Amino acid sequence: MGQIKLEKVTKKFGDVEVIPPLDLTIEDGEFAVFVGPSGCGKSTLLRLIAGLEDLTSGTIKIDGTDATNIPPAKRGLAMVFQSYALYPHMSVRKNIAFPMRMAKIDQAEQDRRIEQAAAALNLTDYLDRRPGQLSGGQRQRVAIGRAIVREPAAFLFDEPLSNLDAALRVGMRLEISELHNRLETTMIYVTHDQVEAMTMADKIVVLRAGHIEQVGSPLELYRKPANLFVAGFIGSPK
Ligand code: ADP
Ligand code: MG
Repeated sequence: MGQIKLEKVTKKFGDVEVIPPLDLTIEDGEFAVFVGPSGCGKSTLLRLIAGLEDLTSGTIKIDGTDATNIPPAKRGLAMVFQSYALYPHMSVRKNIAFPMRMAKIDQAEQDRRIEQAAAALNLTDYLDRRPGQLSGGQRQRVAIGRAIVREPAAFLFDEPLSNLDAALRVGMRLEISELHNRLETTMIYVTHDQVEAMTMADKIVVLRAGHIEQVGSPLELYRKPANLFVAGFIGSPK
């Protein structure tokens, strides 16, 4: 289960309100993409959902339960960053196992989940390497593997492919979409890349200066953009 509901959520940094009151529901199993120009609040919104930032006001519910005051590690969400955030001195296996070690999951279960994640991400032959011996794409797969083994209610991706070159990006897009099809787990994916939004999303949330301009499927947004900003962003002929 992984429905995420934001009710009248706001966020201020000092006196600056970067998220004005915002309501949004991501349904269980949905692939939602937050898209919008740099500085519009995509990362902030994701960090609020993850619990890495405190709300200024409002409520975040996960599967109907008020999660506003639940610490990040207990929300059942797994965040994947663009910077990978891997431990350089640990093997791929240990990097993937890390959250399970923290959660004191028994060794046999850890091994089972590592094997499954590695198979799903084509990392089986790389488990004994260190991150420094991997390509950028492989490192991003390790970061995703580390999220998978937590069996989260939802994955939160913050521009996970922006450090990769264009060719690799296309391949990783497909891999993440396939992963979503296979796991049927809620994914929220932040990007400023319209092509990623249009090709990956069930639901696109177009953000501008912290507020939602439009929410809809790629086709809905393309055919009926709410305004010129959305049209320009989605590239529809309006
Ligand atoms: P995006 O991810 O869409 O590029 P961000 O969520 O990072 O945008 O930022 C949204 C706005 O909030 C920006 O104006 C940014 O400068 C501001 N902001 C983000 N984090 C902080 C912070 N920790 N302190 C002050 N301002 C911040
Ligand atoms: Mg950002």
